[in-house]
Amino acid sequence: MEENGEPPEEYVALCNFTANGSEQLSVNRGDRLIVHAKPSSDWWWAELQGVKGYVPASHLHQGDAAEEEEDPWQDEEYFGNYGTLKLHLEMLSDKSRTEACRQVIVHNSASLQSKVIMDLGCGTGIVSLFCAKLAQPAAVYAVEASAMAQYTRELVRRNTCEAVVTVLQGRAEEVQLPEQVDVLVSEWMGNCLLFEYMVESVLLARERWLREGGTMWPSSATLTLVPCQAHSYYAEKMAFWENTYGLDFTPLQPLARQEFFAKPKFSHVTARDDCLASPHDVLDLDMYTLQVSDLEEMEGQFQFCLEKSGQFHGFTAWFSVRFESLEEGGAAVELDTGPNAEPTHWKQTLFMLDTPIVVHVGDRVQGSLILRRNPVWRRHMTVTLNWDVSGSVHEAGSKTFPMWR
Ligand code: SAH
Repeated sequence: MEENGEPPEEYVALCNFTANGSEQLSVNRGDRLIVHAKPSSDWWWAELQGVKGYVPASHLHQGDAAEEEEDPWQDEEYFGNYGTLKLHLEMLSDKSRTEACRQVIVHNSASLQSKVIMDLGCGTGIVSLFCAKLAQPAAVYAVEASAMAQYTRELVRRNTCEAVVTVLQGRAEEVQLPEQVDVLVSEWMGNCLLFEYMVESVLLARERWLREGGTMWPSSATLTLVPCQAHSYYAEKMAFWENTYGLDFTPLQPLARQEFFAKPKFSHVTARDDCLASPHDVLDLDMYTLQVSDLEEMEGQFQFCLEKSGQFHGFTAWFSVRFESLEEGGAAVELDTGPNAEPTHWKQTLFMLDTPIVVHVGDRVQGSLILRRNPVWRRHMTVTLNWDVSGSVHEAGSKTFPMWR
C-alpha cells in the first residue's frame, strides 16, 4: 500500500476484528492504531505495534471522540451483566455472604418492626425478601437498575411479599422514593473492596434518602493485607519457562511478568499457610461519614513482622464489612472474605511482585497501599504498593497495578 503523504493519525479500535488473509490486520477493542492512508471509505491502511494491514474503517474511531462517546461508568455493560443470571447465581450460591445478610435481618428483627428500608441494588431481591419474611418492616423499597428487576417483581409476588416490598427499576441516583428511609442496606462491595465503585451510588443515596439518625448496612468496611507466598501460581506462570521440555525459555519471562503479574489476580485463594505474617487492616471506611470525594485516593500504611520464612511472592488483599446491631446490647454481624474465614465468591485478590524475595522469620515488611480511582473510567482504579523489607535482607520496591484501566 502506497502511503499518500498525509500525516498519520491515531485511531482507537471500537471492537475486535479478525484478519482474513495477510493483507488485513487483526485488532482488539481498545487498541490504538496509526492510520497511514484511507484509500477507500471502507478500508484503511493501519499499523499496530509495527505491523501494517487493512482494517475496516467502521471499526475505528478517533481517540478523543471514542472516549467522549463511551460512558465512563460503562453502565450498559455493567447492568447488562446483572441482567443475566450468572452473577446472581454466583452470589446466591455464596452461603457465607447470603447467610450473613440473613443473620443481619434475623438478629435485628425486633428493631426492624415498622421501619422503612431501602435495598439498593436488590438484584433478585433476596435481602428485601428476608426483611419481609423475617421481620415486619412498614415498607421495603427494592431498587435495581438492571433488567433483573422485572423478574424480581415476579419473585416478590410469588413469595407473597408485594404488600411490603416495592421493586423500583432504575438507577438509585434517579429513582424517586415516596419517603425517606430508616435503613439503607446494600451489598455494594467489589474486588479489593472498592472495584466498580458501586459504593458511590450508596453514598449518594445516603445523602438523599436516609433520614437523620438512620442506619447504614454495612455500617463500616475494612481492607486487609498480608504478605504471602504463591508457589503454585508462580510456578505455573513464571518458573515454567526455566525448563520447558528440557529447554531454557527464560527469555520469555519478561513477557510473562507483563502478561500475568502486571494486573492483580482476582479470585485467588490464599491458604492460611501461605500468609507470611498476621494480616493488617490498611483502610477503614465508616459508611456514615465517608464522602464521594474521599474515594478518589485512599492511602493506608502497613507494618508486618514475618512469622514464617519462605518466598515473599506478593500481597493478598481482601475486605470485611460489619452490620451494626440495632438491638440493645446486640452484636454486630461481620462478613469476612479473608483466608481465615469461610470462603466466599470474592475469594481474595493477589498482587504479585515482579521478583520474589527470600525472607525469614522476624524480617519486617513495611510500606503503604494507595487506591487511586481512574479519573476517566469511574469503575476502575490502580493499586500502588510500596514496600520495604528489612532484617535478613534489605529490599525496597514499588509497583502500580491497574484494575483494569
Ligand atoms: N442485593 C443483591 C444483589 C447484589 S449485586 C444480592 O445480595 O444478591 C449488586 C446489584 O446492584 C446488581 O444487581 C446491580 O445491577 C445493582 N446496582 C449497582 N449499582 C446500582 C445503582 N446505582 N442503582 C441501582 N442498582 C444498582
